[in-house]
Amino acid sequence: MSGAKRCPDCGSSEIVEDAHYSQDQLVCADCGCILSEGLITTTVSEETSLQAVRYSDSTGENDSVTYCMKRGIIRVRDLCRVLRLPDGFVDTALSYYKQAVGLPLYRLVSIEKKEIIVGCCVYITCRQQQWPITMGTICSLIYAKKELFASLFMDIVQVLKVDVPSISLQNLVKSHCRSFKLFKDSSEVPPQYAEKLDTVSERTVQTVELAYETWLVTGRHPIPMITAAAYISWQSFQPSRRLSCSLSRFCKLSDVDMPPPSTIRLKELQETLIKLAYHLPWLKILSLNRKNIVQHLGDLLKHRALLLRRALAVTEAELSKGTEASSSTDQLNSTLVFLPPCVSNPKKRSRSVAFPCGDLDITGDEEISDSEIEQYLRTPAEMKDYQQVQSCISSV
Ligand SMILES: [Zn+2]
Repeated sequence: MSGAKRCPDCGSSEIVEDAHYSQDQLVCADCGCILSEGLITTTVSEETSLQAVRYSDSTGENDSVTYCMKRGIIRVRDLCRVLRLPDGFVDTALSYYKQAVGLPLYRLVSIEKKEIIVGCCVYITCRQQQWPITMGTICSLIYAKKELFASLFMDIVQVLKVDVPSISLQNLVKSHCRSFKLFKDSSEVPPQYAEKLDTVSERTVQTVELAYETWLVTGRHPIPMITAAAYISWQSFQPSRRLSCSLSRFCKLSDVDMPPPSTIRLKELQETLIKLAYHLPWLKILSLNRKNIVQHLGDLLKHRALLLRRALAVTEAELSKGTEASSSTDQLNSTLVFLPPCVSNPKKRSRSVAFPCGDLDITGDEEISDSEIEQYLRTPAEMKDYQQVQSCISSV
């Protein structure tokens, strides 16, 4: 290398490399003329090629980061910004994303799935910070299929070994209540329907907590329950004027979606309230139904700790009586006992036993008769019929 070069000053071929302030230089050993300076200052030498070196190249920040990964990182940042998440969330979501995409399992998945991984990492972060965002919200933002999102989410949670606490019902109620137009100061809604957000959301939280205590929330999607609770709480502030307003009209006026199960949740909630009212002496004497129970919601919520304790005592007493008598829940006094709705009025038949006549002791070594096998074979007549039908179909 050095032999090929010659000193431009004295013509000597004694060119040596010399480290000067940690920069390598080519120096003439005879006269000391410096032939080149700072050859290896950066990864791409600006001196020779006159190209701008990007910041990320010079720092090595994005070394060995694939194009897809870079794109995903930008998407995570965008999604956090769109959702207006607090600053700290981005870093957590990014670290999950880098972990997930770094795994061989997710390196070669489709772009659609990589997009969903972005959503999952942001969703996991939100759940861990008790930030009330639903899977549905993220799915609609990234145009993802809900089933695919849910399955990938379960996968990632397992693979990354992260702990995902269940959704904070309180925060979810508060943030969902914020989306109701009736709870905002808006001139478009009739004055008798307008309600302050703080008061109604506080009562909705209490109603949802009551529903939670009485088995109406577990295993269900929270939003329909919250919608029903918000409706009933809103009604209870001015029952005389709002009883005539139906749930669907309420949702339409509030400009929120009415998820189909919310009517069922409403019915369950009203029935639960009627059951609880039985334990309050001054309500016991009234004839309560699903319509007029709303007027007493405030009372029921005020005494809910006491009511739940009484209801629990009754339920326990009835259950122990039931197990002593015939160990079935059918005989329970269904007007008093609190059980999950799927237990108290099951839609499905109770699980059938595989061998109703008891254990048959089948070993797998039993004799198999010819006649038993022959019933699975086609007879010549059946074969002929089948061929005829096949030829008919193919000729059409
Ligand atoms: Zn020289």
